[in-house]
Amino acid sequence: MIVIERVPVLHFSPGQVSEPVDIVIEGGTILAVGRGEGAKYPQAERHAPGGFVTPGLVCGHNHFYSMLARGLNVAIKPSKDFAQQLRHLWWRLDRALDQDIVRASGLTGAAEALAAGVTSVVDHHASPSFIDGSLDVLKEGFDATGLRGILCYETTDRNGLDGARAGLAENVRFATTVDALRAAGRPVMVEAAIGAHAPFTVGDDTLAGLAEACRSSGRGLHIHAAEDKFDAVHSRHEHNLDLVERLDRAGLLDSRSIVAHGLYLSASEIETLKARDCFLAHNAQSNMNNAVGYNGSLPQLRNVVLGTDGIGSDMLNSANFAFYKHRDSGGPLWMDAFLGFLQNGNELLNRYFVGQRFGRVEPGHAADLCFWDYDPPTPLLPGNLAGHAAFGMGSRMVRSVMVAGKFVIKDRTPNFDAAAIMARGREQTIRLWKRMEEIE
Ligand SMILES: [Zn+2]
Repeated sequence: MIVIERVPVLHFSPGQVSEPVDIVIEGGTILAVGRGEGAKYPQAERHAPGGFVTPGLVCGHNHFYSMLARGLNVAIKPSKDFAQQLRHLWWRLDRALDQDIVRASGLTGAAEALAAGVTSVVDHHASPSFIDGSLDVLKEGFDATGLRGILCYETTDRNGLDGARAGLAENVRFATTVDALRAAGRPVMVEAAIGAHAPFTVGDDTLAGLAEACRSSGRGLHIHAAEDKFDAVHSRHEHNLDLVERLDRAGLLDSRSIVAHGLYLSASEIETLKARDCFLAHNAQSNMNNAVGYNGSLPQLRNVVLGTDGIGSDMLNSANFAFYKHRDSGGPLWMDAFLGFLQNGNELLNRYFVGQRFGRVEPGHAADLCFWDYDPPTPLLPGNLAGHAAFGMGSRMVRSVMVAGKFVIKDRTPNFDAAAIMARGREQTIRLWKRMEEIE
C-alpha cells in the first residue's frame, strides 16, 4: 500500500483543481482519496510529491517502430505526394526492421512515453520482414519499463497475400496470449487490438479475415483511414464504396474500433462512425508533417482521441499542436475541447481493459498517475486549466510517473535503465539505416 500525501489533484477534462488530498493506493488501484485519508493507513509506504497530480496521459495512436527513424541519415528519394512518401520512406523503413531493431524501438519508445507522463500507448506495429512474434518483442519494451498499452499488427496486402495472412495470424496469436494471461489470473498490462494498415492496401479477402479476427478475439479494429485523399478516392474507384461504408459492410466497425486520421470522410461516413460509437484518432503533428491536409470535422466527430502517429509520445505537446492547428484553421474549439479529446483516450482503455476504470483520480480507478512540478505564475483554477495547458504546462514538468500503483519514474529517476535503453537504440539505429540503404 502507498499513500500519496497532500497533493492537489488536477483533472484536465472537465477542468478540476482540488485542495491538497491524500491518495491511498493498493494493488494497482486507487482505494481512497481525501483529506486525512492517509492517517487511516499508518503502515503504508508514503510519498509527499509536492506539485500537482493528474491521471496518466494516454496516446491513442502511435508507431514505436518509427522510433529509430529520428534524424534519419539515409538517401530518400523526394516525394511528390503522400503515396510516394509511404513508398520512399515508411515502407522501406518497416521492411528493414528485424527482431533486434523492433526490440530497441519498443524499449526506446516506452521509455520516452513515460518520461512525458504518458502511462498508456496504443501502438500500431509493422515489420513485414519479422511478423510472427513481433508483438511479443515489441511488448518487451512495455514490460521492461512498466508502460501500459494496446498493441496490434498492421495487416496489409502490400507485401503479398502471404504477408497479409501472417499479419492476421500475428494479431490473433497475440490476442490469444493476452486471453491466456487473464485466464491464469495474471495482471494484464498490454492488451490487443486487431490491426490493419489502411483500406487502400487491404483487399476484400483480407478485410473478411480481419472481421473474423475481430469476432473470434473479441477485439476491435485499429486502422488508418482517409489519412490522405488517395485512400478515399481509391475506395470509391476500386470498390465503388466510401471507405467507412466498406469497413462497416464487412462488420468491422463497433465501439472498440480505432480509426486513425479520417481527414477525407463524407458527412454520411462521419454519421456511420458515430452510430457505431468508434474512436477517431487525430494526429495533428503527423498530418502537418505529411501535408495531407486538415481534419476540419473534429467538432462533428464523436470519441476523438489524440495520437502522435510515431512522432514521439508527448501528449500534452500533441494536444497543443492539435489546438494551435485548429485555431489557425479558424475552427470554433478552445483548448478545453482538446483536453477532452486527450481524456477520451481513457475511454479507449475502459473498453479494452474490461473491468478496470481509467482517467480519474478517484477510488476504484487504476493508479496510473502523473506528478507535475508546476509553479504557475497565475492562479490555477478549474475555469482556466485549459489556458495553463495551452500556454504554460509541458512535459518538462513531469517529475514522477506511476503505472498500476508502481512508480516507474520517481523524482525524475526512472525505475529502468533509461541510458542503456537509449544507447541500445543508437546501436540498432546504425544497423537499421544500413539495412534501409540495401533495400530498394
Ligand atoms: Zn499511424
